[in-house]
Amino acid sequence: MADCLFCKIIAGEIPSGKVYEDEYVYAFNDISPEAPVHVLIVPKEHIASCNEITEENAEIVSKIFLAAKKIAEEKGIAEGGYRIVNNCGDDGGQTVKHLHFHLLGGRSLNWPPG
Ligand code: 5GP
Ligand code: ZN
Repeated sequence: MADCLFCKIIAGEIPSGKVYEDEYVYAFNDISPEAPVHVLIVPKEHIASCNEITEENAEIVSKIFLAAKKIAEEKGIAEGGYRIVNNCGDDGGQTVKHLHFHLLGGRSLNWPPG
């Protein structure tokens, strides 16, 4: 998608701190981290939000969670625990309209979110 920020990051047109990549998934450090570990995990295919997950593309969600588990292990937060967050749509707080999951950890996280 031509004017999508995360598609540009995946294509390497905008620099990012890559932490993981495979055939389907790209993960990079959030530019404005809310925790010692704050990684964004995105599908390489442009999917705008959770609302656009279909029977045909739903497998990407399991691939993203497998990537999250690997990254958590590599970052040393798997044992202590972490949070995976998806914001969907304006009321959900989604600011970038390319499906992404936040992996947050490295400190004790508060609940509930605001
Ligand atoms: P959302 O609010 O849509 O769930 O999350 C978007 C996230 O993208 C935010 O946490 C924000 O800090 C991050 N972000 C926005 N622009 C950039 C960027 O250019 N590079 C990186 N690495 N992260 C970004
Ligand atoms: Zn995109």
